[in-house]
Formats: sequence, structure tokens, C-alpha cells
Amino acid sequence: MFEKSKELFKEAKEYIIGGVDSPVRAFKSIGEDPLFIKKAKGSKVYDEDGNEFIDYVNSWGPAIVGHSNDIVLKKVIETAQNGLSFGAPCSLETELAKRIVNAFDSIERIRFVNSGTEAAMSAIRLARGVTGRDNILKFIGCYHGHSDGLLVGAGSGASTFGVPSSKGVPLDFAKHTLLAEYNDLDSVAKIFEEHSDTIAAIIVEPVAGNMGVITPKDGFLKGLREICDKYRSLLIIDEVMSGFRLTYGGAQHIYNIKPDITILGKVIGGGFPAAAYGANKDIMSYISPEGDVYQAGTLSGNPVAMAAGIATLDILKQKNPYDNLTYNAQKLISRLIGLAVEYGIPLSGNSAGSMFSVFFTEKTPENYSDVQKSNLNLFKSYFIGMLNEGIYLPPSQFEANFITMQHTLADIENTLVAAEKVFSEIASGKLYV
Ligand SMILES: *Cc1c(COP(=O)(O)O)cnc(C)c1O
Repeated sequence: MFEKSKELFKEAKEYIIGGVDSPVRAFKSIGEDPLFIKKAKGSKVYDEDGNEFIDYVNSWGPAIVGHSNDIVLKKVIETAQNGLSFGAPCSLETELAKRIVNAFDSIERIRFVNSGTEAAMSAIRLARGVTGRDNILKFIGCYHGHSDGLLVGAGSGASTFGVPSSKGVPLDFAKHTLLAEYNDLDSVAKIFEEHSDTIAAIIVEPVAGNMGVITPKDGFLKGLREICDKYRSLLIIDEVMSGFRLTYGGAQHIYNIKPDITILGKVIGGGFPAAAYGANKDIMSYISPEGDVYQAGTLSGNPVAMAAGIATLDILKQKNPYDNLTYNAQKLISRLIGLAVEYGIPLSGNSAGSMFSVFFTEKTPENYSDVQKSNLNLFKSYFIGMLNEGIYLPPSQFEANFITMQHTLADIENTLVAAEKVFSEIASGKLYV
């Protein structure tokens, strides 16, 4: 079924380290070879062997309007015909910036970069520049890209491999990152009591999406805001995954929380490498060329990426798909759990807007240590079973699933039919371990 992908992976490994350009793509935690994708359209991806899959990876979040949307493609092609990159200002940057600034109360000025990693790294430098403090506080299991100092107890790829941090990160950098437990304000308060006026910022995913989807408990985000105000630290909300995915704007609007700095990525690039960080005028005035916090990028604000972002946001604004996406994700997850119960399989789940995860554990996880209780052998069997049935899921228990505007009710019904088959096989003892 996957012969061609297997061959291509073998060849890729001869030239590209691990055969992939981002570790989770390698299916390592599943113990299988990854699929090579040839084409993606709407809610579907097609591999090199010609198999069709209903896609719940969606490029790890950007593809909220569905793959290869005709309007986005048209705008991208028109823009590309005028040149691929200028290294000079172009009005498309302002056009995308305008849309983002108008969508966020907390953002008055923005800077575009090329990846979420770069945005998070720059936001932290900005927070340090503004406060004159060196330490930051992050949450175990939250992921903010792979910069030094953020690969400390990170989730996602790192947690799948069971490595708490990466080799190559100097201890001197890591020691400036203080770690707290997600959804546990006491753990944050304790750290602030100990380190009081040394903490430049708290960085947090408003809905955690990189240890599977974990929603914030009532009062958690508000509590972080209060602690930041008390100690005059900045609150950085990382909306790389949640921005324009839960609503037009950020999760910060849904949870009614005002950060000092916001990080965006994924959806705002419409499938191209684009990300951003933004804040009020005063904070952003620290960034060069206005201020003395340096940050730059040869390809930042790339016109084709800006065009894809603009077209994507305009579709979202016009169609306002968010209620529908939220409903579909909730329905899918509650019926998956219902099916699992029927077959005696422990399953729980979380969703926020069109982001969702199921966990092979009875108690719904609220933090990283809860997620660790998920039965990874069951996850692996579920993943492989679903893949064989034409459902393409993220190949890790610690990643979020995404629904797009192009996922139809038929797609969801077909996913549930596949899940029922896989659960019944698992219940009768068929395990891929
Ligand atoms: C994906 C992600 C990042 C990293 O973005 P890249 O573009 O992969 O560097 C950072 N923060 C969050 C919350 C993410 O989901």
C-alpha cells in the first residue's frame, strides 16, 4: 500500500538527515516509515502511491481554509508573477499587518518573520530588552519553537522522543528558563516568589497544542496576567497555533485576556513561511530600527507569503467558519469517545475551536504529566489502523489534530466509521506494537 513512500524515504535518508526536515514527520514514535505526500486539495492529501486520505494534520495548522484553496492560489500566482522577493518594503506587508492589528486589541505594531520559532525567540529578546531582566518562565509541555532556552522541558517532537531537553543547548542559556506546570497557578506563584524581579516574561500557549490539546482551566490565564502585573513582568501569549484558528483573532479574545506581546504563525502565512510578533506601540518601539533590540530577516515579509496570508484571512473574515468548525470538532471528539467506551477502550479528549486531541487515558489530561499517562501502544495501534483506513492523523499522541473549512460531514462520518472498525480490532486484541 505504501511501497513508493518507503522507497522515497530510503532515498531521502541518503541525503537528508533522518529523511525529513522536521523530526515529527519521520513517524518515529509510530515505528513506521512516513508517507510522501504528492498532492493536497480541500480536506484530502494524496500520497505517492496514489492513496487518498482525509487529512487531520493540515500542515500542522496553517491549512484552515483547506488545502490549495482556489482563491489563495490565484492571489499567490498573481503575486509571484510580479517577483518572488524584493528585500525592500512592499504594500502587501502593510495589508496583512493591517488585518492583524485590526483583529487584535493588544497589537498596535507588528513585525513579520519567517517561522514561529523566530517569532518566539524575538518576542523573548524584546521582553528582555523592555524589562532589563534575563529569566523567563515557560510551561512544561508547551512548545514555542526550537531556539536555545526554549528547548527546556519542551513538548512536541522532543517529548515524543522522551528527551526533556536538547543536546547542544548551553546550561547557561537553559538556566534562564524557569519551568512551571500548565494549569497550575500555584506553581507559577511559587517561582515568582523565589525569583521575583528577575523574570522578564511568562510565555504561554493560551490553549496548549503541543502536548496534545489541553485547554486552560477557568482563571488560569487571568491568574497569569495578575502575576505578571504584580511583578511587572510581561505576558507573552503564543498564538502561533491558536491565532485565527479558534476565532478571527486570537484565543486571547475567547478567554478575555490581554497579553503584552502576541506571537503568530501558521494560519497567517496561509501555507507559506510567515510568522509575526506584535504588541502596543511602546513595547514595539524597542525593536530596531526604532529601538535597540535587534532583529532582522532577509526574506521576512516575503510578498508571496503575505499574499497567501491576506487571502486566507479574507476568506476567514468573510465566511466566519468558526462556530461550524467548533461544532464539528466537538461532535467528532464526543463520538470518538462514545465509540471507544462501547469497545472498552480508555479514551478522553479535548477540543478548542477546530483543534482537538484524543488521549488513551480515562481522565481528561490537564497538564503534561497527565498526558504522560496516555497508553502509547493504543495510540500507535489507533494511528496505524486509521492510516490503513484512509485517515491521516498526526503521528504522535502529543500533537493536535485540525479540522478545516473543507472537512465535510461525510468526511467526519467516514472518520467515525474507520474509528469504529479500528476500535473493534483493538478490542479483539489486534495491536500494532
Ligand atoms: C508550531 C508552533 C511554534 C513553532 O513554529 P514554527 O513555524 O514551527 O517554528 C511555536 N509555538 C507554537 C504554539 C506552535 O504551535
